[in-house]
Amino acid sequence: MIVKLENIFKVYGESGTETSVPALNDVSLTVDKGEYVAIMGPSGSGKSTLMNVIGCLDKPTSGKYIFEDKDVLKLKDRQMSDLRLNSIGFVFQSFYLMNEENAIENVALPLSYAGVPKKEREKRAIDALTRVGLADRVKFRPDQLSGGQKQRVAIARAIVNNPKVLLADEPTGALDQKSGAAIMDLFQKLNDEGTTIIMITHDANIASHAKKTYRIVDGRLYDGLEQEVDDEKD
Ligand code: ADP
Ligand code: ADP
Repeated sequence: MIVKLENIFKVYGESGTETSVPALNDVSLTVDKGEYVAIMGPSGSGKSTLMNVIGCLDKPTSGKYIFEDKDVLKLKDRQMSDLRLNSIGFVFQSFYLMNEENAIENVALPLSYAGVPKKEREKRAIDALTRVGLADRVKFRPDQLSGGQKQRVAIARAIVNNPKVLLADEPTGALDQKSGAAIMDLFQKLNDEGTTIIMITHDANIASHAKKTYRIVDGRLYDGLEQEVDDEKD
């Protein structure tokens, strides 16, 4: 087990008032090491909120969250951000690359936060870029790369620290079908190499690449199958 959420609730706004929004409603989820999980749901269902909780970017209102052996919600903010920096890699729909910097510099950024010396940073950035199939583009800036290549740079940046979990939020959302399929091939390769992946998407085709699928509807998480049975009843 690497991620274990138990009875997580997240309410935005003051609970009990008219403007309070229950974004996560009794969510429990266990992800084992080496798993490849997709969480599917429509807009507004709570996907970003769940990603922020799993990624230690935000704390839930109540519940329990164990990451490996750590009781995350008992950590101080500083310890929580250390956990995030050392153990979690993020990939987003919009790549969030630095346009003035080349691929090596973009990928090396998390290593400079971790205090890794320059030469070592460069070496590890080139290794990560090689893993994502960009060995021949390491000196290119984002504006010299295609959408799919930009996402590869972002994925290299996410894995350069050897994170325990790769968290991806609509990783193919900004890409055409062909580039998106290539990113799914890359995720498969990373998962085969042992990376645990949690991917959030509204796209059933993309979700089908994962080994296990959950659905989130109005802040409630369902097992993929369980929810399909419910659908048939409607
Ligand atoms: P999704 O990513 O699936 O679109 P979100 O997690 O962004 O869903 O949102 C879930 C619900 O919580 C929505 O009703 C949304 O409007 C609400 N919500 C999300 N973030 C906030 C926030 N910071 N303040 C108030 N409501 C929020
Ligand atoms: P996504 O496209 O991933 O579903 P959203 O557009 O729903 O993302 O939300 C983008 C960001 O805005 C999220 O980080 C979420 O926390 C925040 N957000 C979403 N809904 C609200 C809201 N009603 N009020 C404040 N912040 C919100």
